Formats: sequence, structure tokens, C-alpha cells
Amino acid sequence: MKATSGPTPMMVQYLALKAKAEDCLLFYRMGDFFELFFDDARAAAATLDIALTSRGEHDGRPIPMCGVPVHAAEGYLARLIKAGHRVAIAEQTESPEDAKARGGSKTLVARDIVRFVTAGTLTEDSLLDSWTSNMLVAVAPVGDEYGLAAADISTGYFELVTVAASALEAELARLSASELVVPDGLAQQFIGAIIRPRADFDSIVGGDLLKQHFALSTLDAIGAVTRAEQAAAGGLIAYLAHVGQGNMPFLKLPVRREVHAHLLIDQATRDSLEISAANKGARAGSLLAEVDRTITGAGARQLASDLSAPLMDQSIIEARLSLVQWFHDAPLTRDAVRSALRQLPDIARALGRVVAGRGSPRDLGQIRDGLDAARHLRERLGAMADRPQLLDHLLPMLDGHGHMVDVLSRALVTSPPTDTTQGGYIAEGYDAALDVLRSAGRDGRQAIAQLEARYRDSTGVAALKIRHNAVLGYFVEVPAKHGDALMAAGSGFAHRQTMAGAVRFNSPELHEEAMRITQASGHALAAEAAHLEELTAIVLTRRDAIAASADALARIDVSAALAERAAEGNWCRPSFVSHPCLEIEGGRHPVVESALAKSGDRFIANDCKLSPDKRLWLVSGPNMGGKSTFLRQNALIVLLAQAGSYVPATSAKLGLVDRLFSRVGASDNLARGRSTFMVEMVETAAILAQATERSFVILDEVGRGTSTYDGLAIAWAVVEGIHETNRCRCLFATHYHELTRLSDSLDALSLHHVRAKEYKGDLVLLHELGDGPADRSYGIAVAKLAGLPPQVVSRAKTVLEKLEKGRAETGGLAAGLGDLPLFSAALDAAEAKVDALREKLTGLDIDALSPRAALDLLYELKRAA
Ligand code: ADP
Repeated sequence: MKATSGPTPMMVQYLALKAKAEDCLLFYRMGDFFELFFDDARAAAATLDIALTSRGEHDGRPIPMCGVPVHAAEGYLARLIKAGHRVAIAEQTESPEDAKARGGSKTLVARDIVRFVTAGTLTEDSLLDSWTSNMLVAVAPVGDEYGLAAADISTGYFELVTVAASALEAELARLSASELVVPDGLAQQFIGAIIRPRADFDSIVGGDLLKQHFALSTLDAIGAVTRAEQAAAGGLIAYLAHVGQGNMPFLKLPVRREVHAHLLIDQATRDSLEISAANKGARAGSLLAEVDRTITGAGARQLASDLSAPLMDQSIIEARLSLVQWFHDAPLTRDAVRSALRQLPDIARALGRVVAGRGSPRDLGQIRDGLDAARHLRERLGAMADRPQLLDHLLPMLDGHGHMVDVLSRALVTSPPTDTTQGGYIAEGYDAALDVLRSAGRDGRQAIAQLEARYRDSTGVAALKIRHNAVLGYFVEVPAKHGDALMAAGSGFAHRQTMAGAVRFNSPELHEEAMRITQASGHALAAEAAHLEELTAIVLTRRDAIAASADALARIDVSAALAERAAEGNWCRPSFVSHPCLEIEGGRHPVVESALAKSGDRFIANDCKLSPDKRLWLVSGPNMGGKSTFLRQNALIVLLAQAGSYVPATSAKLGLVDRLFSRVGASDNLARGRSTFMVEMVETAAILAQATERSFVILDEVGRGTSTYDGLAIAWAVVEGIHETNRCRCLFATHYHELTRLSDSLDALSLHHVRAKEYKGDLVLLHELGDGPADRSYGIAVAKLAGLPPQVVSRAKTVLEKLEKGRAETGGLAAGLGDLPLFSAALDAAEAKVDALREKLTGLDIDALSPRAALDLLYELKRAA
């Protein structure tokens, strides 16, 4: 780029491509580098920690520039994507020779954007975690519903679902998208989402795109696809076409999900229960990490998806559980299957790359090996007696690839490479013509070795070598001191290059042999490439069957892994009943239990018994006594059970739960940005609005984020609301002793506490649940346990005595609560209405009203009454 008055032709080309790339960083191909300019260069240099330089000028100012080598681009891409960037790749779309032929020696090589690399559309192994799905989700609002289309294009997974606004958040939380695509106009609601034209989300166009993509005459093959789903699918497919610049990735026929088919869990609950990520987003310490014993990447992804969407359909849950039990009860079979899985490559992702047009010989080799292993597994499992139904359903999916596997086995070498430029991936003996070309190449290399021996003889230079490099091709090399001898006229050698310690030559014979080799290997490469294309085509025609095999293997892996985990931890198979109860005996918290085990401590198992007539347990007791652990373990047991897993308990019986809620009082959550008390209240409001009689709610110290009186009042009213209006199963932990009075007025409330005792003046926390209220709060004892200095502890005791004396005289914090009228949702709503009317009337300036406005007001008041 020279400094000229106007932009250089290259800059013109660059700016046009950059306009097309919009807010993506533009990787502009220049020979062996991708270069970035202007703000793109600044952003990339900062993220990648590479040098920011400049090249030429634009508008009289130097152009900031940085570059990454093409061969190492993937690693840099991965870092940019992780940092939240999206990248447009502009390749040279013609060779420099073609450009010259087209328009003379100064002609700029044509370039175009060949694809966009974004977090939700990756297929490269190096850019993905093998154990997590990578979801791209498109959202389309239609009426008061939302259609969601979600795809993991690395495996072809594709689903459609329609949700009401109230379930949108929980569904997005389940899908945990790496990239969200929404129509123009929804930007405010989905901060950070990719905004696409509204026209892409038209339901009619979307329906047509779906039909077109899957070559369907009607959408019935998918199910009752709603308009909202068609709109979302349209948005998704249009975005994928844009990202791949016309090259569509692999999408399986979409699965239609029913929202009511799974347990809804909103984001706050997922965070609080640490389902797939523990605090600070790490996988370690989460339920998923604790449970995961899967062997394959596909199995790990399936398990993550199972735990994020536990089921509501008892027959599917039981089918999963029966397979887990079968593996549980047969440890030898389980071991055998798990060691077979250990050999298994990631078929699903290999297939994803092949379909996206980025498949390599290695991917085909993986598909071959994976399917071959699948067939062995099928034979082994098919020979077993008493197979559960789910297994009989899965086994046939593992088979039927015999012919293809056979062709791939004959065609490909044992471990084919990713890189095709060197050839060598088609097996010897597959194509006679290719073998001839290769042996010509081999003969040529042998002839060169003979030539080398002959030259050593004839020149007397024992150190003479024939070597090869990419620039010169083949050449003769001697140490510098022998250079002159070969330089002499009539020696038959022609000088090519003088290096520091060596001199290089050519010779007519060498040239001839080299030509032969080059030609033969060029033809051989072309022949291999043609075979690769054929083999790829064979795989493509069978892609749905291959994907089904991959899914079946993942399900087998998950089932055997859950059985393994259950056996390790002495877990039990849960059973389901039709009424809303939760009866857990000997329940444990899997994550806390294994953390304690590491330090040699034992976890104390506890029972939980919620039934329609005692559906709300109020758990009190000292801090650190084990209240939250108890609450959470029961929520996790519900979640595991409905995901089709054994559970950490000696027995478990439950009625299916439709929504699961978990909230923790504000002061445990200080790390969050918003006013924590506000967050606590917003989240509590969501529960009161959404929990049904089939829901399960755990509330931990709600109300503690504010002053004692406010906090107690709020906790009191929330317990009443849950008991009277939501009528769901609920565990409520609190340190407000006063709440225990609620048991007088609320029938289905039952009191429990975590036990503690004082031993020789010290507090011992037993982590054991007892019936009835806690006898006292032990706050000072806990403070002492925590290491507060003795003088402070003793002073606190004195203060407490005074306070307690005062409380006894006045009736205490909850004085007067005894005569509070009963909570009634209808009554309170009526009262709220009257309050609103009264407020309106009081604020009225009657003299300032026109007759017309007065009449309008009367109508309004009448409507509001
Ligand atoms: P709380 O909510 O009452 O303040 P936690 O549930 O946070 O108490 O428990 C405090 C600590 O006590 C936990 O970190 C854990 O180490 C231990 N703990 C809790 N429950 C048990 C249990 N059932 N058995 C053994 N240790 C437990």
C-alpha cells in the first residue's frame, strides 16, 4: 500500500470486503498470512498479544496492521472467538497466475469472504470442547409466544420448541447458547445477541426453507411445527447460509420439543444448584462434573443435555432407568462396554465436519473405526439375555454400515492424516493405477539414491548429498571446500546456490529423475483426491444413519456411566408415583459428600418426607448446621431422578416435578452486581408467580438481605403465599425462629431443624435433621466456633441476655403476630384494589377537571373497581 492521493486498489478491495463483514473481524488473506487492518488489527493484536505494526497509509495516516500465519490460524481464531469476537475469512479466490492472465501483471488477486467463524457455528475439534455441546439458537416472537430453533452444527443436532413468555428464560437457560440470533427489533431484550433482518424470521419463508433443506413436501414429517418455530427455523437457516456463505452445515431433521416434556429450570436455579457449572462458571465442582463418568465426548455432551433438561414423561424416564439398572446389575458387561467405548472416536463431530465440506481423511477414518467398533458392540450386547427395551431399540441403530465400513477400510490407511497436501492416505492395493504412480515415485527416489552413490564415487567427495527442499526441489550439495571441484567446467554440475558452509548444484540426470518423481507424485495426489471425493460422497449419502449410530452410542455411554456412578456411590433407583410427594430416605448431597470424603469426613444422610398434607418444611437451626446442603440435595435428587439417573439416597419416591426453583437469600450472593436484595426479591417474585402444585421450591434464608423486621415480614408473607396460593412442595430454610409460629395457622407446614449440641461449652454441629423447631439460635456459639476472640464472645453473651430480657417483656420481635388475620390471596387482592382506588381519589383535584375529563375518570374508576 503506497501513499497515494486516493486509496490503493487493494484498499478498495479490502474496504468492500470489510463492509460485507460488518462487525466481524476481517481475516484478509495475503499469501501465507491472514492480515487485519485498522480497528480490527487493534482489537486482534490486543486479544492475541501480537505485534501491532502498520502498512502504507490511508487518508494520509498509517494503517494499523497485524497478521497471523495461515498454518497457525486455528489457534488464533479460537482465542478470538473465546474473547467474544466473530471473524470473516476472506480468501484469495484465484491464483496470482490467473489474475495476471486476466488483467496483466499488476492485477490484484480476487478475494471474497468464504465463511464466517462464530462461536455458535464452529466445527473444528481444536476450537470446541469435546464434552460440551455448542448451541446456536434463533428466537422468533409470534403473537405472545416465542419460537426457538436450536442447532449444534458440530453434530447436526437440531430442535424446535415453542414457549410462552414465562418459560422463555428457562428454555434459553436449558439450551445455554454460545450464540443467539434474533430479529431486528428484539435487540433491547436480548443484549449481546446477533441481530439479523426481520425478513429472515418470516414464518412462511421459514416453513419453505425447512421443506427445501430437508426435501420434504410437507412439514408433517417433523410434527406439528408451529408458526413461531417455522419463523425461528427460517432465521436459523438464513443465518447459517450467511455464515457458511452458501455452504450449509449438517442439520439432522429437527426434533420438536414440547416445553411440558421436561422439567423447567430457570437460570437462577441452575446457578444456585450449580448443575453444569459451579461458581465462577467452572465445570469442576458442579453436579455434572460429580456425576460424569462417561467415556466419549458424545456421551459427555448427552449427559450434560440430559441433566439440563430432566424429563416429565415417566415412561421415558423408566426406560432410561431400566437400562442404567441393567448395567448397574451387571458389572462385567458394564466394564466390557466401557472399555470398548474407550477406543471410540467422536463420530458425530467427524461427520459434522464432513457434511460442512471441511472433512479430512482423518474424519473418514474416524467414522470407519467408530462404526466398526459399534458393530462389535452390537454383536456383544445382542448376545446378552434379558435386554431392557431401550437397549433393543438402540442396538439396530448401531448396524447396517457394513458395506461402507468395508469400502473405507480398504480405501484408507490405518491412521489417515488431517492434511491432504502430502497424500498418502489412500491405502496400498485399493487402486492399481495409484499404486503404479506411487511405485514410479518410489523408483525415482531409489534412482536418486543410486545417483548420489555414483556422484560420491565420481567426485571422490564422500560428504556429497542429494537433498530436497520446497524452493529448489532436488539438488546436489557438497561442503564449501569441495565446491570448486564441482564448479570446474565439464564436471556436469551446474551451480545453483552458495550457502555459508555448502554449495548446491544441479545436474541433467538429477533434473530428469526429479521431473519423473514430481510428475508421478502430482498424478498420485490427484488420484488420491479423487478417491477422497468419492468416499466422502458415500459417507454423505449415509449421514442420517451414521448420526443415528452416534446418538445410540452416546446413550449407551451415558447409561453405563450412570450405572458406574451409582455403583461407586451406593445410589438407588428412584420410583415415581402419581401424587405430588417427595420421600427420600438417607439422602445425600453428591458434591458435598465427595468433597468431605477427600478430607476423610463422613456425610450425614438425611430423610425428607413431603406429602400433600405436609408439603412445606420449615427448616431452622444454626448457621453452618447443614440447612442449605439439605435443601439442595433434595433438589438435586429430583433433578437426577427425572433425568433418568440413580440418586444418592437409600430410597427415593416422588411425584414428577414440573418446575424446579432454588433461591438463596441475598447475603450469600454478594458477588453479583445488582442490589442483591433487589435480585433476591425479583427471583422470589418469579417463584410466587410461576410455581404450580406440581413444582418443587427450595428457599434458603429468603429475606435476610434486609433489616430484621422487613426480612421477617417478607419471609413470613412468602411462606404464607407458597402455602396458600402455590401449594407446591417446598423446603424453606430460615434463621428466623419466629417463623415457627406459622405452624399454628398453616396445616401443611411442618417444622424441622438441623441439630446441634453444646459440649463442654463448645458447639457441635451434627448435620442431622430433627423434627420440630430448633430450641435456640446458637448464633454466639457459631461465632465462637468461627474463632471470634473470647472477650468479644463474652461481651456478645451479655448483650444477648439484655436483649432477650427485653424481648420477654415486650413479647419480642414477633409480638402481635399471633393475632394476625389469616392470609388469603383473594382478600389481599381485593384490599390492594381498594387501596389503589383510594389513592386515585385522594390525589384528585376536582375543581381542575373538565366535565369531559370527569366523565372519563368515572368510567376509568368503574373499570378498575
Ligand atoms: P447452613 O445452610 O445451615 O448454614 P450448610 O448447609 O452451608 O449450612 O453447611 C455448612 C457445612 O457443613 C457444609 O459446607 C458441609 O461441609 C457441612 N455439612 C452440611 N451438611 C452436612 C451433612 N449432612 N453431613 C456432613 N457435613 C455436612
